[in-house]
Amino acid sequence: MMRSFQHVGGPLRRVLPRAQLTAGTANWIFKRFAFAGRPEKVEQKLNQAKALPTSPARTRFAPSPTGYLHLGSLRTALFNYLLAKATGGQFLLRLEDTDQTRIVSDAEQRLYEDMKWAGLKWDEGPDIGGKFGPYKQSERLPIYRQHVKELLGQDKAYRCFCSPERLDEVKKLAMTAGEDMPGYDGHCSHIPASESEHRAASGEAHCVRFRTHGSGSNFKPLFSDLVYGAYKPPPGSVDDFIIMKRDGFPTYHFANVVDDHLMEITHVIRGAEWLVSTPRHVGLYDAFGWQSPTFAHVGLLTDQNKQKLSKRHGDIDIASYRNKGYLPEGLLNYVVLLGWSPGKGTKGTSEVMGLQEMVEKFHLRFTRGDIRVSNKLDFLNSKHKAKFLAQSPEDLQAQVVPPLSLAISKLEQKRAEPAQLSEEDADKSITATLDQLVPTMASPRSNGDDASNHYNAAYIGKVFELDQKTYANAASYVRRNRYLFWTVPTELYRQTLNDGMQELDYLFLRASESDKTDAKMSAVEITTVFADALRGIPADESSWTKERLEEVLNPLIKSIFAMRSASEASSSAKTEEEPWGFHMLRWFLFALQPGPALIPSMVVLGKEETMNRIRKATDSIACDSSA
Ligand code: GLU
Repeated sequence: MMRSFQHVGGPLRRVLPRAQLTAGTANWIFKRFAFAGRPEKVEQKLNQAKALPTSPARTRFAPSPTGYLHLGSLRTALFNYLLAKATGGQFLLRLEDTDQTRIVSDAEQRLYEDMKWAGLKWDEGPDIGGKFGPYKQSERLPIYRQHVKELLGQDKAYRCFCSPERLDEVKKLAMTAGEDMPGYDGHCSHIPASESEHRAASGEAHCVRFRTHGSGSNFKPLFSDLVYGAYKPPPGSVDDFIIMKRDGFPTYHFANVVDDHLMEITHVIRGAEWLVSTPRHVGLYDAFGWQSPTFAHVGLLTDQNKQKLSKRHGDIDIASYRNKGYLPEGLLNYVVLLGWSPGKGTKGTSEVMGLQEMVEKFHLRFTRGDIRVSNKLDFLNSKHKAKFLAQSPEDLQAQVVPPLSLAISKLEQKRAEPAQLSEEDADKSITATLDQLVPTMASPRSNGDDASNHYNAAYIGKVFELDQKTYANAASYVRRNRYLFWTVPTELYRQTLNDGMQELDYLFLRASESDKTDAKMSAVEITTVFADALRGIPADESSWTKERLEEVLNPLIKSIFAMRSASEASSSAKTEEEPWGFHMLRWFLFALQPGPALIPSMVVLGKEETMNRIRKATDSIACDSSA
């Protein structure tokens, strides 16, 4: 949603090939613009400015509906939200839709949904209105026209009748002459006002440019940024940039400044890619005689290799995080720590903050420079899950079941079509160890096209309850607990039992503590003992309970042992017996894979599936003489 370098307008506009759009490029752009030195006084002033304002701040999030909310833009929105709330001010949403050619049709709707999901409520905005509306730039065109007129009247702006072809030509020539970012050559800056009026009135196509040079201009590009300090573009690097395009729409720079002023915005926190544009904005504020807001440009997000975050490198849109089972507060907590910290040296659990705590701890000391994204998301999400669980477990379940369904559906698709899987797919090895979905997974009300709807939400909810303490995100939860969703392949039973029994001499059943007449038994015989014991419990929910299962199984579990030959490393030459009952049970149920507690799992799986598993496990070894 945030524009990239490609969209820096005016003379700085330089469409870079995608591959070049790296954080390196960002550095290169910043380096071209000398940062003025930092004498102590400046530093002091800056530190004062970083304290929270004492009066309510009005901030805004001003995305262009050209894409969906991503990590970087969510972070910008959050910082602005926090500043407004921390000072008792207002947080506004404004849609910057002046570039009509790049609008993505559902971006506006998705923006509202994603922001609501994240819990960032706005006080004024296109959908709810407010005192300073409209909040959609395309609905404010008369306001921009009137302000352009004002600048034209004061000769602080002028009409430019140059054709796009001429501008291209000028640019090409300048580049051949060695200028890497050539600006406008001022061709139309001397056209007398009367001639300009006349040509415009007779319908000659034109744009309007802001006069940054020569008579009429008092352009002073220096400004002080809260993060980057005193910032000044090198002389000559800002040309007479366009404020109104030939199509009558304002440019981003112009609309942004007019709106921030009229909407009484006091602070602008935005991505550092806008730093280079800010001298123009400040120039416009000066020209109108307005006071500019305080600017804070926060560092760009990069991946671990210091490359600007891209889709390929995890900068997926916010809805994808929701679909992956991240909770809003987990995600907000994650992004707030990208370039900001509640206090020096705060690490680990003290970084875990809900939205209200973030408001309470908020300050304006941001990290300068590129910000490498961290890998704390799972950790933070799981901390917020634990809080949520303690407060309202039902709500938590309602939030995680749809993502779990989706994760199951994705893995199920891969399982059903293994040929489609690439070698690099991390799920390849997992899908190879899955059999059919457990029958209860089929939804009693399967309807619609969404595959995840076909699953039984109540069942998934129960599986979630079984192991919710380990939940960090939907996919990892589904992988870890896969045998509660899928059945176990026969081959895996065979293989895991063989592996598990390799160093065992034999299994036996001890009738009682006092009676040590041990009955040597094969694995098949032991499975039969379990099956017989369980067969007597009726399948209905009020009979197949944890209590009843414990009553029946606990004595049995306690009576099963394995005799292990003393290992060569062991000092005693004697053989050793080991309790083996739980092991057997884990083998029937999950082919020895780690997972939640066994008896509660059996309750969730239900009698039929439990018995099926015992049967399948038995079959897997029935003809295996070693067992
Ligand atoms: N419309 C701009 C964007 O898409 C807003 C930049 C700003 O905050 O000034 O990011």
